[in-house]
Amino acid sequence: MDAFGRTIDYLRISVTERCNERCVYCMPSGYHPAGGRSEQLTREELVRVAEAATGLGFRKFRLTGGEPLLREDLPEIVRDLARLPGVGCLGLSTNGVRLAPVARQLRDDGLRTVNISLDALDPQIYRRITGGEVAPVLAGIRVALAAGFEQVKLNCVLMRGVNEGQIWPLILFASEHGLPLRLIELMPVTTSTVLTDRNFLPVSEAMALVGQHDELEPQPDRHLGWGPARYYRLRRTGALVGFIGAITDQHFCATCNKMRLTANGRVRPCLGDHGELDLRAALRSANSAAALRAVLAAAMAQKPKEHQFCAQYQPDRPMTAIGG
Ligand code: SAM
Ligand code: SF4
Repeated sequence: MDAFGRTIDYLRISVTERCNERCVYCMPSGYHPAGGRSEQLTREELVRVAEAATGLGFRKFRLTGGEPLLREDLPEIVRDLARLPGVGCLGLSTNGVRLAPVARQLRDDGLRTVNISLDALDPQIYRRITGGEVAPVLAGIRVALAAGFEQVKLNCVLMRGVNEGQIWPLILFASEHGLPLRLIELMPVTTSTVLTDRNFLPVSEAMALVGQHDELEPQPDRHLGWGPARYYRLRRTGALVGFIGAITDQHFCATCNKMRLTANGRVRPCLGDHGELDLRAALRSANSAAALRAVLAAAMAQKPKEHQFCAQYQPDRPMTAIGG
């Protein structure tokens, strides 16, 4: 429990800052290494952190980045974490580009859920947003579905003037494949020039756009699957659509249940607040689970009541470095 009565049981672990895409809202000029590889936590260190976190009641773990599928030892990391007693759910967030060849193996290794970013179905619009090709991502989605994960979800970041025309095609695609789709408000987590008021599309508008096609029925269980989305079932199509109002939802932070571990070993209690604690120092100086638990507990105690995105927040490191 944190200082505001929230149960914090979800750790998002960034396994790498590297990425093979260059999304306009995240890493528009591609990946440029800042620190050496030695700064990145090793597989063994990641496992020690996760083990310490389970000792504090963390149950849900998600591997992210950067693009986690670029990390060569990801299957081994998945295998090690999935075996830890106390790990209730282990998920992956990916851009999906490299998913198809490894999805089955990762499922066998113990990965339980996958979130795949898909901001557009139209290849040109997809390329404009990410710099890459949509076809391998669609192949990755198909293989992930066949691999028997407990849950596969799609994520789409909303940008006015860029992909609002893709919302309805994405909903149809998602419902055709039985996948929940989450529509996410753009957050100021990079200094990218795409983050202007002009590009910002609030979830209220996205809901109105969806409402032109189908009727939205709020789902009684607001937080299906631990996440921050408010879900609606579309009456006619049956699609399940989640809206993540990171900026405009006044109650967004009240139900936050997560902390983040950066690829270089900092614990970040809140994505939209600069506070961080150095876990790598504890990992490399003291070989004790108690020392790790102490840093994680301190981070939990420091978790702020709410993010600073609406207070002229200036990102100090990109989301790839924090672990989106
Ligand atoms: N590379 C993987 C991917 O793209 O899914 C995992 C890391 S990425 C940082 C995790 C999630 O953060 C993705 O769904 C991405 O769309 C989202 N994201 C990145 N920058 C964002 C921003 N400025 N606002 C909102 N969501 C963002
Ligand atoms: Fe890479 Fe994901 Fe960021 Fe896009 S959102 S640049 S795929 S880390």
